[in-house]
Amino acid sequence: MKLEADLHVHTLASSHAYSTITEIARWSADIGLKAVAITDHGSAMPDAPHIWHFQNLDTIPDHLFGVHILRGVEANVMDPKGSLDIEEWILKKLDWVVASMHKQTALMTDPDEVTSAWMGIAENPYVDVIGHMGLPRYACDYDKVVRAFGEHGKLVEINSHSFDVRKEAVPNCRKVAELCMKYGVQISVDSDAHFHMDVAKVDKAMAMLREIDFPEELIVNASYERLVKYLENRNRPKA
Ligand SMILES: [Zn+2]
Ligand SMILES: [Zn+2]
Repeated sequence: MKLEADLHVHTLASSHAYSTITEIARWSADIGLKAVAITDHGSAMPDAPHIWHFQNLDTIPDHLFGVHILRGVEANVMDPKGSLDIEEWILKKLDWVVASMHKQTALMTDPDEVTSAWMGIAENPYVDVIGHMGLPRYACDYDKVVRAFGEHGKLVEINSHSFDVRKEAVPNCRKVAELCMKYGVQISVDSDAHFHMDVAKVDKAMAMLREIDFPEELIVNASYERLVKYLENRNRPKA
């Protein structure tokens, strides 16, 4: 199975990534993707772009080289209430919002606090997908939060980058994927690429999903049509 969209990609605006939006779009077209989400880090991360980066993303055309460009952010979950580091008026302007915990910004590690943060995120109408939630540092009540994400129509990310750089997260990624399957929660399989040639490289995540017989129809970005349906039906307040 091949992806038709990659929904978590960094540009050189996050300063530890190295490609431009144009390079990413051209590469995505070359490898046959139909959509790509540009998701640089929210302001709380040390490598984050200035907030004006997000405010001005509507400068970028909807399509580049025939690829649908989703203007997005990887926002930081900051506290046990599930606060994000990007203000609502900016989230409203964006097409795609990943919410992730990073050790530089999410200081809570108590499982009850992490669970509570994710329950807050489940209720945030602007969040589309929960980023790399397998990190052992942020272990939580996966059963409860995955069910809540499903009830609120959120996607759960299986982040292939974790299989390379956060290997300790792999058993939890599998557990999370099994729960998504159990509760029928849609997922997004993403590269979290930091260089354009890594876009849509998700072989390791896909291998794990094959091992557990994960149903293709729950993978939102395996079909552009399915992604568009998600975008049309998501429950976002009107801008
Ligand atoms: Zn991240
Ligand atoms: Zn990322």
